[in-house]
Amino acid sequence: MSDMAGRRIVQLEEAVINRIAAGEVVVRPANALKELIENSLDAKSQRINVMVKSGGLKMLRIEDDGHGIRAEDLPILCERFTTSKLQKYEDLLSIGTFGFRGEALASISHVAHVTVTTMTSNDSCASIAHYSEGKLQGDGVRPCAGTRGTTLMVENMFYNNPTRRQALGKESIEHSKVLEVVQRYAIHYPHVAFACRKFSGSNSSAFELSTTGGQLNSRDVIGTIWGQNLANELFPFEVKSEEPPFSCRGFASNPNHSARSSTLILFINNRLVDCAPLKRAVEAVYQPVLPRHQHPWVYLALDVDPATIDVNVHPTKMEVQFLHEEIISQRIQETLSSQLRTMGGSRSFSCIL
Ligand code: ADP
Ligand code: MG
Repeated sequence: MSDMAGRRIVQLEEAVINRIAAGEVVVRPANALKELIENSLDAKSQRINVMVKSGGLKMLRIEDDGHGIRAEDLPILCERFTTSKLQKYEDLLSIGTFGFRGEALASISHVAHVTVTTMTSNDSCASIAHYSEGKLQGDGVRPCAGTRGTTLMVENMFYNNPTRRQALGKESIEHSKVLEVVQRYAIHYPHVAFACRKFSGSNSSAFELSTTGGQLNSRDVIGTIWGQNLANELFPFEVKSEEPPFSCRGFASNPNHSARSSTLILFINNRLVDCAPLKRAVEAVYQPVLPRHQHPWVYLALDVDPATIDVNVHPTKMEVQFLHEEIISQRIQETLSSQLRTMGGSRSFSCIL
């Protein structure tokens, strides 16, 4: 057959399909960690401990004190589309959990080796299970010692995808992206105690982040993580609207603070997301108040009607689309700019919007 004739169309093998899909959900260790933190939060954890080795590529371990996983569910835990959170498509409209597709653990198990240790309050001992390529490994589910909650260990990420492994570059970059995810969730969930440790060889590790939990205010956590100097330069803001219905609150830096790059920590309906138009809108507010090439620090928690947001536009769930994006961005701009104005920045505030 000549090349010109084209090749026959054939269905890919399931293992190939799964590995391709997994590579879209888990692009780098930080994506995996975000999914794992969300699972721990969905399980109502009050304490979440993360351990990172070699940027998360050698090992990423997350330990929580949540409700645990029932031992009888462990055999299918890492299969695709197995979830305890969504039953029918319509449930997506009112979904109250982060997870809904049952795809995270499956994806992770297709790009890494996964070990789960878990115990519910009904169990008298914990269970341990190993997974690879979506499947429970040979030794099955075994009893072991443990406390209530779940520990997920992810090892040798991208062992079966050397191209991805090489493309990721430096471990230090992956490490900082992993740490960033923990920092951001720690701010948004001040009542949960987060810790992140970096494995530093020969069984020792260093704390890089530790929050106490039980805090009512994100500003305390921001002070713990970013330092009191930044926390002192932040002002709280709040915007509420009936039409379109949304509410937004957060902390933003005043004109005394500036940095070489901007930080916009954005949660929409409690999901850590990116939204380029909203980011641009926030940065524009600061343009007249900050010196050239200097940028603000803003944490913004936006709540919109769940029926107007599509969280399923991207495999990593990092990008979202929502209705009335423009008008909501504009209202946030107005609030921030009028608060900045009352602080008396030295520059002119005309032509902000
Ligand atoms: P999803 O979160 O979309 O349901 P996942 O693959 O992330 O899919 O997780 C599959 C299921 O495993 C969840 O629905 C949940 O029942 C269980 N699970 C995962 N992680 C945890 C955890 N840390 N604590 C309790 N249950 C968990
Ligand atoms: Mg999940």
